[in-house]
Amino acid sequence: EPYRRQRQMCIRDSKSGIDKNVCQKQCNTTQNLFDAALICKIGEKNMIIVCKNTASQEKINELIAELEEQNLKVHCSNGTLSTILGIVGDTSKLDITALQANEIAEKVQRVSEPYKLVNRKFHTDDTVIDINGTKIGGGHFAVMAGPCSIETEEQIIECAKAVKAAGANFLRGGAFKPRTSPYAFRGLKAKGLELLLMAKKETGLPIVTELMSLEHLDLFNDVDIIQIGARNMQNFEMLAELGHCNKPILLKRGLANTIEEWLMSAEYIMSGGNDNVILCERGIRTFETATRNTFDISAAPLIHKLTHLPIIMDPSHATGMSSLIKPLAKSAVVAGADGLMIEVHPNPEKALCDGAQSVTPAAFADIMSDVKKLCEFENKTL
Ligand code: PEP
Ligand code: MN
Repeated sequence: EPYRRQRQMCIRDSKSGIDKNVCQKQCNTTQNLFDAALICKIGEKNMIIVCKNTASQEKINELIAELEEQNLKVHCSNGTLSTILGIVGDTSKLDITALQANEIAEKVQRVSEPYKLVNRKFHTDDTVIDINGTKIGGGHFAVMAGPCSIETEEQIIECAKAVKAAGANFLRGGAFKPRTSPYAFRGLKAKGLELLLMAKKETGLPIVTELMSLEHLDLFNDVDIIQIGARNMQNFEMLAELGHCNKPILLKRGLANTIEEWLMSAEYIMSGGNDNVILCERGIRTFETATRNTFDISAAPLIHKLTHLPIIMDPSHATGMSSLIKPLAKSAVVAGADGLMIEVHPNPEKALCDGAQSVTPAAFADIMSDVKKLCEFENKTL
């Protein structure tokens, strides 16, 4: 018991930014070095300095240089209201009171979250992704719709025209499909991409499609948004590489990943230099088997609290049931989502993939009429 109290005290102190050595000494008194290491790790937090509006660029640069001399990495985010310096590395050696006394510092704060570039604290404004004028985030609502897989020219063209007429602003379809069974239809691959590009040309809709291997990246030059599916959310080599490409990335949440793991994956992309990340909640695995997954509606408002990145919601993969798409799509708008992903097929019964969760073009148009009303109510532009 006394040991437990001591440990809790250490954790509390390290959260408030206690010096690492002091923390270690306290832990050593408990004779438990393993916990000392654990607690000191918590103490190694990132830090942010919110600069005063009056701070000159020269003074900001001086402060950055001073911090970099101490082997810390500094990222500067120029927001509409203030400039924020995000400091990464072992900030335990920094004297927080000395920093607070700096004439340009408005606020100095340690940040306990391990993600930084995606963190709302480092970048207060909403990120708006702009695809040739079609925007996502910051009050702009985007609807991505289309079949799970591209099957034939007629199917994708018919679908593209129908979703456009109903008000979708992106056409989504899979050419490379991640399937649980190797014997299932795994997409038309390069041929599927060709058909999707035809549909883009025909309708003018920007396109979203899944990349399953970096080997195929060259085929994606005319794709507007690259989708990274749930199964590749933690393919770290892939994420790091996508950090060097200039295309927006739609990062789906993993089948059984926490919000923090998901944001760390987004951090992989952003830390490579690609700021255009859109998150997509598609349901998570729980004990419930009545639906394909469990739709984590709380992800929408929570993501907005934790990060500046936009989030779209995918009720299709979350539920696996076409009859649930309408109520959940509506709930996603009201929960604050920046968009929706909905599977639409001209003939769901005959779909080669995910037919049970696909809605018909007529049902999609009906969903969109309610979504439009709710967007108006929520003050979002669709
Ligand atoms: C898809 O979008 O068709 C898909 C396979 O989704 P997820 O990666 O979310 O399972
Ligand atoms: Mn699908």
